[in-house]
Amino acid sequence: EVDWFSLISVISLLCFAPFIVFFFVMACDQYQCSVTQPLFDLVQGKTTLLSIWARAPSFTWSAAKIYAVWVTFQVFLYMCVPDVVHKVIPGYAGGVQDGARTPAGLINKYEINGLQSWIITHVLWAVNAHSLHWFPPTIIFDHWIPLMWCANILGYTVSTFAFIKAHHFPTNAEDCKFTGNIFYNFMMGIEFNPRIGKWFDFKLFFNGRPGIVAWTLINLSYMAKQQELYGQVSNSMILVNVLQALYVLDFFWNEAWYLKTIDICHDHFGWYLGWGDCVWLPYLYTLQGLYLVYHPVQLTNIQALAVLSLGLAGYYIFRSTNRQKDLFRRTEGACSIWGRKPTYIECSYRSSDGGVHRSKLMTSGFWGVARHFNYTGDLMGSLAYCAACGFGHVLPYFYIVYMTILLVHRCVRDEHRCSSKYGKDWTRYTDAVPYRLIPGLF
Ligand code: NDP
Repeated sequence: EVDWFSLISVISLLCFAPFIVFFFVMACDQYQCSVTQPLFDLVQGKTTLLSIWARAPSFTWSAAKIYAVWVTFQVFLYMCVPDVVHKVIPGYAGGVQDGARTPAGLINKYEINGLQSWIITHVLWAVNAHSLHWFPPTIIFDHWIPLMWCANILGYTVSTFAFIKAHHFPTNAEDCKFTGNIFYNFMMGIEFNPRIGKWFDFKLFFNGRPGIVAWTLINLSYMAKQQELYGQVSNSMILVNVLQALYVLDFFWNEAWYLKTIDICHDHFGWYLGWGDCVWLPYLYTLQGLYLVYHPVQLTNIQALAVLSLGLAGYYIFRSTNRQKDLFRRTEGACSIWGRKPTYIECSYRSSDGGVHRSKLMTSGFWGVARHFNYTGDLMGSLAYCAACGFGHVLPYFYIVYMTILLVHRCVRDEHRCSSKYGKDWTRYTDAVPYRLIPGLF
């Protein structure tokens, strides 16, 4: 059953999300990243929606070629280059790894080679920039809006394909979820882990490769554009590049761990993930770098240090909290957290086949501070990217607003699921750890 609120949210997102992306990118292209000016101009009749649309660069075949080469190359790296990084770097979990058990009881295998793909892509980027010169390092910025149309074409194609595939040739029919509402099914997905063949996994590929590998390349392209336009790179641009690269590298270093997160464990593959990974993520997660091309903010040393400290502190909390839970769950509590044996609440739950299982919810370490302190760390890091851009415009702050909505919504979604899974044991846990994100506040 899909309630009215979910249905209205789904239809609004389907209708408005592509325009939100267009609006921000267009605001930079036509209004120097001011989000209020186009609105004022529209209200005062100085411009019209049609003239804004007419001034936006349109689809070009050269952008289509760049995009096709980019996606094909990422598919090649994903499918045809087995991971060797785990053989040379100790502690890195790459190669063939197990995912979490699906609702139908399957455990999928994944070829984890994201870190390797990221390294190869970036080494080639650097070699091209310094010696080959096949294309300018500003290529992404120079084709930014035409590339957006290509990303949309891929995003809509892949979500439509996933929708049709789920109806006619699902990878695993028992893991499909039909709600009876076509919009909800299209947006939130029907198939749990759609695949082509044995190894091409839609979720792992689209989340990581066209989206997250691109993230750092896009930022590098913005940095190159600043250098070309102003003859130097601002410290804020370096900070944004470094902090976001840390987050991206963390993602790939822990790619096997991400197989156990909500995106892969609970979400189905539809427009939300397909279009979101192709368009929303590369276009809106990189708004700070785009803004800094138009406004090269130079921070004072104190300001830069404050941004760096906030970003690193956020990263430390985000990573340590996730690591604590991972260690706790892997060792079933037989580990040391902050130098002590962890405390926890014993829980039981019933799976759909009627079996009763046991689990543990940790109440010490960062998991004793708040129930989603990993999200708090993520939000601190996100705020640091935005703060690097100074306070001249609101556009770079879109990211922290969006991440707050995303992660608060995720908290609510996850807690709803955990509450129905664990029942009164979950209430014992929320009594022991009363706050979600910020102790004493929320
Ligand atoms: P979590 O890693 O927080 O996982 C939540 C699950 O952990 C719960 O469903 C429950 O699962 C288990 N759990 C909850 N409390 C405890 C506890 N006290 N002890 C042990 N296990 C517990 O959530 P996500 O998968 O959403 O997030 C993973 C990371 O990814 C986060 O750091 C988040 O910030 C980041 N992220 C980033 C996004 C981005 O766009 N940048 C988007 C989404 C996430 P169970 O049923 O097993 O008990």
